[in-house]
Amino acid sequence: MKLFERQTYAHINVDAAVNNFRKMAALANNSQTLAVIKADAYGHGAVAIAKALTSDAHGFAVAFIDEAIQLREQGIEQPILLLEGVMSRDEMKLAHEKNFWVMLHRSEHFDWLLTLDAGQRPHIWIKVDTGMHRLGIEFSEIDSLLTAHSELLRDSTVLCSHLACADEPDNGFTLQQTKKLTDLANQYGLAFSLANSAGILQWPISHGSWNRLGIALYGCAQPPTNKLVELQPVMTLSAPIIALRTLEKGDSVGYGQSWVAQRTTTLATVAIGYADGYPRHASANTPAWLHGKRIALVGRVSMDMSSFDVTDLPQVEVNDKVELWGEHLSVAEVAECASTISYELLTRISPRVKRIYTSTAEH
Ligand SMILES: *Cc1c(COP(=O)(O)O)cnc(C)c1O
Repeated sequence: MKLFERQTYAHINVDAAVNNFRKMAALANNSQTLAVIKADAYGHGAVAIAKALTSDAHGFAVAFIDEAIQLREQGIEQPILLLEGVMSRDEMKLAHEKNFWVMLHRSEHFDWLLTLDAGQRPHIWIKVDTGMHRLGIEFSEIDSLLTAHSELLRDSTVLCSHLACADEPDNGFTLQQTKKLTDLANQYGLAFSLANSAGILQWPISHGSWNRLGIALYGCAQPPTNKLVELQPVMTLSAPIIALRTLEKGDSVGYGQSWVAQRTTTLATVAIGYADGYPRHASANTPAWLHGKRIALVGRVSMDMSSFDVTDLPQVEVNDKVELWGEHLSVAEVAECASTISYELLTRISPRVKRIYTSTAEH
């Protein structure tokens, strides 16, 4: 810790990420597992997470080429899949030079590949739209495209698709998507990749040669009740109390006077706001954790500060550290209070919040 530093931190428990990876990979023994570390590893720091997983992950996945280049520059040597593919023929060539795997998801991508010498072509995955309708070759066109480009197919070529509803255990759409992709993979004798975290946890039938592990790596997925897999949160977000004050019944707090004290209230002003990534839409009563108890958010979150009711904690002092989410409080619960999901909260922690890495193991 530096002498002059705001003590608002995202503590990253690197060992927890490694443990989560191993537990999730063990649920799919016949699959290889890509660690999805796009968006700076969901806000946790892609280089640190990748380094910790060097001997475990069979490869990494990021959204686009800039993210992959940064990892290479930091010494990450495993294959890196570009989930959104590339934007030009030159990027395709660069991908080969840097051992990035490229997702082909439009017919032009096949054309770009064919203009390169066979020795300059990157390893490819082919994205098929099985119903999410976001990215991928349309299902009605995939047959003719694969037939026309059979010279590009290798034993290692992977047919890929993304599940739209894998986190809904009763939603049959997942089975429809799975059948479409597996039928196609069988027809062409190709490997497939379909499962994200929810697929790995809830839909064994979606497990392919490769699974793509994202949110559960960071400890934020809900395992089904019949699975004995316990995931550990990787990020704990904390901030210090910088002021304490007493409000009388009827006093209000913050912008718009949106919260009014119903009793004599001790308020803690905490050094975290929406400029740090703490959600401005967090509703009154969003929980935080202090001295082994839950405390409640009051009033509007402002840019650099938030207020919490600490009336029931007589021992509270300025400089005490409040946990906004992490070890004792799930980010999913806080996300629900802000009408969003854990993915958004994790990825929006701003650079102003220093990441502190802890690890006891040599990975
Ligand atoms: C982000 C992403 C994943 C990881 O999903 P999680 O739900 O975080 O496990 C997998 N596949 C694709 C294509 C993605 O974009």
